[in-house]
Amino acid sequence: MEIDLRDLPDGASELDLELDAASFSLAKEDVELEGPLHVHLHLDRRADEIWIRGNAEGKARQECSRCLADYGQNLDLEFDVFCAKVQNPNVVSHKAVDEEDGGIHLHDGRTLSIDGEIREAVILGLPMKPLCREACAGLCPRCGEDLNQGPCRCGDAAEGK
Ligand SMILES: [Zn+2]
Ligand SMILES: [Zn+2]
Repeated sequence: MEIDLRDLPDGASELDLELDAASFSLAKEDVELEGPLHVHLHLDRRADEIWIRGNAEGKARQECSRCLADYGQNLDLEFDVFCAKVQNPNVVSHKAVDEEDGGIHLHDGRTLSIDGEIREAVILGLPMKPLCREACAGLCPRCGEDLNQGPCRCGDAAEGK
């Protein structure tokens, strides 16, 4: 996904995008999305410096860490990108250069792509311990039955956990 800088006015503007995973090169092996990612960008442009604050909402396919069922994890992401024009476009083009102070995204003055930042926000936005629901009862440690479906055959194990 590219933002055409020739169309981007100076000052504040907003942009709404619906992105499918392929449009920002999100590999299925990393995260599988259910439906598009809804991205809302606030852009603040001062000549070649552009500050982008973004929100993104979507759903990612995840496996519950307790009951191992697949479910759709709601994503509610925020990201922040500061973009400046690269000094010599022949050296670096369309490439984020991470600097010590958090990373400045460089553009070539014509187009700007923040695919990498969106991808990163999605991956970092996934929970460390995915849960299909807060109160997921998980699997019985003894018989392995899904306790969300009701008590298992060992009975007591369901209570005590
Ligand atoms: Zn679960
Ligand atoms: Zn059991």
